[in-house]
Parts: sequence; structure tokens; C-alpha cells
Amino acid sequence: MVNFAAGEPDFDTPDFIKKGAIEAINAGYTKYTPSAGLPNLREKIAAKLQKDNNLNLEPGNIIVTTGAKYALFVALFGLLKEDDEAIIPSPYWVSYPEMVKLSGATAKFLSTDIAENFKINPKELEKAITSKTKVLILNYPSNPTGVTYSKEELEDIYNVLKGKDIFVISDEIYEKLIYDGRKHISFASIGDAGDFTITVNGFSKAFSMTGWRIGYLAGPDNIITELSKIIDHTTSCTSSITQWAAVTALDDSKWQDSIRDEFAKRRDVLYKGLNSQAKLEPVKSEGTFYMFCDIRKTGLNSLDFSTKLLNEQLVSCIPAHAFGLDGFIRFSFSTALEQINKGIERIDKFLKNL
Ligand code: PLP
Repeated sequence: MVNFAAGEPDFDTPDFIKKGAIEAINAGYTKYTPSAGLPNLREKIAAKLQKDNNLNLEPGNIIVTTGAKYALFVALFGLLKEDDEAIIPSPYWVSYPEMVKLSGATAKFLSTDIAENFKINPKELEKAITSKTKVLILNYPSNPTGVTYSKEELEDIYNVLKGKDIFVISDEIYEKLIYDGRKHISFASIGDAGDFTITVNGFSKAFSMTGWRIGYLAGPDNIITELSKIIDHTTSCTSSITQWAAVTALDDSKWQDSIRDEFAKRRDVLYKGLNSQAKLEPVKSEGTFYMFCDIRKTGLNSLDFSTKLLNEQLVSCIPAHAFGLDGFIRFSFSTALEQINKGIERIDKFLKNL
């Protein structure tokens, strides 16, 4: 079996982070924490957001959550009500539409095009906004397309939203996995966007901590005060042990650099392999560990492509109809180089037999 379906880093959580958790257990830090998170963790997150993301935030502007997924849910559930609309650029990460539905609001999809590298077209965004629009969800580097935005592109989006009563929820969970010398820019750092943006991030992808369940959201005071009440009455707080592990994680960025370099090598090998196939058109990922690929020339829809590839060659991948766009496949390169090479050989056989 070759697994191109993984949605998490294949590396183990680094030892220095595990040690932080073990020390917390031994020190007896095993009780409830404040619902918005440990004060020292919120301080460290605020310092990280200042240093890496150019965001001027206090620890009081941050809420620690049980994964970035719960941060997104809390933000959407807190901001949206029935009759509101949330704009979701498509293709999208699978959970956004479901979370919007759970809040009682309506998801409005904003299609993006391969010809524009799957980026939001500001004119189309303008057209999608109605008097009911309450939220725009941004996600970059993007799952599933792997594309990201430059400062200028973010400014174009900001210019559309400026002065309108719309919140941006900016999911930046893949910010550390970004390639070719690009620099991640947080939407909240553009103009006065910090006044209407909730930045979501976490530890799952950046520190290979998916099972620890920790993320956070950061935003303006008035919103944070209200959103922390949702934590109060749902999870109470994120696991104290996980929070201490996260405190340790933020002490070191060298490990992150090393996995980014490894992912970049894998991306190049996968891109070259897929691109050498006449019937496939991969989009070279600018970030994340996903590669989006146009399979329309094969004549198959995405579900048939992925099912046949699995049955005939034991290669798994994700059909993009799950992300709101047929005719594309998401390949994950969160797997060893040797497996990627094996997978490419099998895809070659599969296409020859088609
Ligand atoms: N946002 C995106 C775009 C993701 O791909 C994921 C996980 O796959 C998450 C959020 C959730 O991350 P977490 O594990 O921190 O809940």
C-alpha cells in the first residue's frame, strides 16, 4: 500500500516536546487551567505572533483551544447565527461547510480557478458579498490546493473587505510549511485587518502534534471575551499536559526548519513524477504537504480515479469532490521518499492500463 492520503505529518512528535509533557505530569500540572489557556502559554503565543506574524497582540487576545479545528468551530459558532452567510473559497477544507451549518448559517462558495492558481479573485469576492455576509474564511497555505498568498494578493482582498461589516477567519495552520523562500504573511497584519480578523493556528502540523489536540485563535478584545465563554461551557480548557508540551514546543524552531526542508524535497520528487504523465497536471505546491492534481484528461471523475487506483495499484489518495471540486485529486507527500517513488511507478502503470 502506498499512502498519498495522509492529512498529518509522518514524523513523530520531537523528543524535546514529549519531555516537556512528561515533566509537567511529574510536577503535578494535571489540573484544570484557565479556560482561555495557561497564562505563560498565551504569553509565548503572543510573542510568537509578534515575531513571526507581525501581530501586536497581548496574551489576553489569545484563546488556547483543543486543536485548531475547535478554534475554527468556536469562531464560527460565536460569530454566525441563522440567516447569516459565510463565504468559503472553493476548493475548501472539508470541515468549513459543516461548521457553518452547525452554527445555523449558510455557506456561500466562492469558486477559484486553476487558471488563477486557485486564488481568490477580488472582483468575484466583491460580487459574492451580500447584506447577509458575516464571515469570509481564508486558508493559506491551502488545504487542499497547496497554494498561498503574497502580501500584494492579501492587500487586494483587504481592499474589498475594508469598511464592510465582515469578519475574516484566517486559518494559517500550514504557515510553517512553505517553500522556495516564500514568507508567510498573516492577513491580520495588513492595514487595520487585525480589527476584524480572527487568526487561527496550532501545533498539529508545525510540530507534528496532531494527537495532542492543541491550537489557538487570536483576535480583537471584544470578540475574544465572548468566544472564551464558549470554551468555559464546553471543554473547560485544553489538556493541561498538552499545554505544557506546547510551551516547550515554542522554545525551538530548528526542528521545524528541518521538516520543511524534507517536505520540500518530497514535493519536488512528487511534482516531477506526476508532471511527467501526459494525462496529469499537478499544481506545484507553494506550501502544505499536499499536491493538487488535474486528472480531467484521464476521462475519469475524481472518485472513480481514486477508487480504481486503490483497487488496481494499492495507492490511496483523496478525490477532490470531497473539497467541492471534481476532476482533481489531492496527493499528500507526508510519506517517505521511497514510498513516493514507488507510488509514482504504480501511477505510471495505472495510467498505461487505463
Ligand atoms: N485547518 C486545516 C486547513 C486543516 O487541514 C486541519 C487539519 O487537517 C485543521 C485546520 C485542524 O487542525 P488541528 O489538528 O489543529 O485541529
